[in-house]
Amino acid sequence: MSGPVQEEDLDGRTADAADTVEVREGRTAHIGALGVVRLLPTKGRRTIGGWCFVDVMLPPDALEPDPMEIGPHPHIGLHTATWLLEGEALHSDSLGTQQPIRPGQLNLMTAGHGIAHAELSSEAGVHGIQMWIAQPEETRHGERAFEHHGELPVLDLGSGEAVVFMGELGGARSPARMDTPLVGAELRLTPGAVTFEANPDHEYAIVPIDGPVLFNGAVVEPGHLGMVLGGSETLQVEMREPGRCMLIGGEPVGERIQMWWNFVARTRDELETAWRDWAAGDTDRFPEFESTLDRIEAPLPIWVR
Ligand code: MN
Repeated sequence: MSGPVQEEDLDGRTADAADTVEVREGRTAHIGALGVVRLLPTKGRRTIGGWCFVDVMLPPDALEPDPMEIGPHPHIGLHTATWLLEGEALHSDSLGTQQPIRPGQLNLMTAGHGIAHAELSSEAGVHGIQMWIAQPEETRHGERAFEHHGELPVLDLGSGEAVVFMGELGGARSPARMDTPLVGAELRLTPGAVTFEANPDHEYAIVPIDGPVLFNGAVVEPGHLGMVLGGSETLQVEMREPGRCMLIGGEPVGERIQMWWNFVARTRDELETAWRDWAAGDTDRFPEFESTLDRIEAPLPIWVR
């Protein structure tokens, strides 16, 4: 047999296959008018470390850029990490935050028991990545919070540089809040392989942005997610042309999370309660805030009749 590794080949993985890179194709979706490629969750895989959602906003069309106009909507049980590659956006939320964000900066919002927020791009459109991180049991029922990091550590890679926005990479450490061990970085690469030390107990993924990435020897094309699901002591990343990619990773989530719409929880009952609280306009759980955009109503959960 030859050719690409098939999904069924990866069942019953052995120690010998520990360094295997699994590559999954994303699927296109729309959030309002904004086109995105959803890389996580993907078929058979909900999380990479605590990262449980990865949407890549498509590059803006020079003639008709897609605006990011995401009206007030709720979250529970997760952090949202917003990372822009081009353009500018404004974040507003239940805490009264009104925070513009530009490329190279991090907006990190913690939902805890409940928060609502909205995101609005400048007219030129945006290109970036929207990520969610599942909160652990210890903090997921807790206080809502928001932090903006305008300056983040930049690590010299020899062949390029890394902006470390979450956790630690190569001795550079992000000041951002982290409830479980994580790593998140934008890699701005020039030709030449870069090797990172990895924790063999952690999971990692590469998100190509501008071109294909060689990840531990496997080619990962834009629109795909390349995953190393533990067992690796090093991560090798290489781009043959100058370009960007994202590296995410962390400690595996030790419990089964449930995701529906904008909610991360552990049970269907918790999801349904959050849905009812948003539908009922519970402003204790999801305080109102100023936004020029319309509130987004939750769809009816498929299990509710
Ligand atoms: Mn959101």
